[in-house]
Amino acid sequence: MQNRYYPFVNMPLPYEYSALEPYIDEKTMYLHHNRHLQNYIDKLNETLEKFPGLQRLSLEQLICSAAKFPREIHSAITDNAGGVYNHRFFFEGLSHCKSNPSGKLLCAIEKQYKSTDNFYSEFKSAALSVFGSGYAWLTSNNGTLKIIASANQNSFAGGIFRPILTIDVWEHAYYLKHYNMRADYIDDWFNIINWKFAEENFEKSIY
Ligand code: MN
Repeated sequence: MQNRYYPFVNMPLPYEYSALEPYIDEKTMYLHHNRHLQNYIDKLNETLEKFPGLQRLSLEQLICSAAKFPREIHSAITDNAGGVYNHRFFFEGLSHCKSNPSGKLLCAIEKQYKSTDNFYSEFKSAALSVFGSGYAWLTSNNGTLKIIASANQNSFAGGIFRPILTIDVWEHAYYLKHYNMRADYIDDWFNIINWKFAEENFEKSIY
């Protein structure tokens, strides 16, 4: 992940806003990246501007250390640093090139979830279980996979369970195309997973 330090900037996506059609529409991608992520970046920079001592911390360090910061900025850092980290991770995990899990990650998925289809089914249940806004994550603790649902902009940066893949299930991620049908959006998302990115994250999670 580039640009991990203050001042944060909105890096261009590695694909066109229209690249994920018909699964995620161009307007949703544009608004999601150019308005929603931009807003988290602006708010994070505004908060850090007043706290020069925190400007040398990386995005991950900001997330992990937020509880030790002055009380008045706990939630601003958690929400906005998390929002930047989670969105970047979500966007990087998308690709218009159709792919499937392979290599060590495929082995781990088949070992723990019996089959890729069964994995998709469990992942979908987790993504549907998020009440309100949040994410579902595939994570790995030294090669042991775990599917975890998270609320709001809570983040797994720097935790024991390393993030492998995530789906943003905030309504802004799908409402223009899928309306309130989160299940349809999740099914569409399965077609645009960047499994290469997931495999790289999985390999890095093994120590
Ligand atoms: Mn989002």
